[in-house]
Amino acid sequence: MREQTDETQQSESIRGNFAVGTCFGDVRCVHGHPVRLFNIRRGHWVACDRCRTYIYVGSNLMSSWRSENGENNLRQSAVFKDGVTL
Ligand SMILES: [Zn+2]
Repeated sequence: MREQTDETQQSESIRGNFAVGTCFGDVRCVHGHPVRLFNIRRGHWVACDRCRTYIYVGSNLMSSWRSENGENNLRQSAVFKDGVTL
């Protein structure tokens, strides 16, 4: 009888309500809620508004943050006031 190594499970770690895939674009809520990716300056975050949680997924992975203005960053950062960082 062979020990079963569950590599597919290991490659997808769970952080709170988020299933973190192999890249930041794969992050999703384990409850099936829609998630959104947003930037705070060069940092990228994924938020689930239903769970009111968000996680940091990396920085400078996409160039789009460069074209965003400070006002957008401020608006996006409003989620930090009542969300929970995982
Ligand atoms: Zn959720």
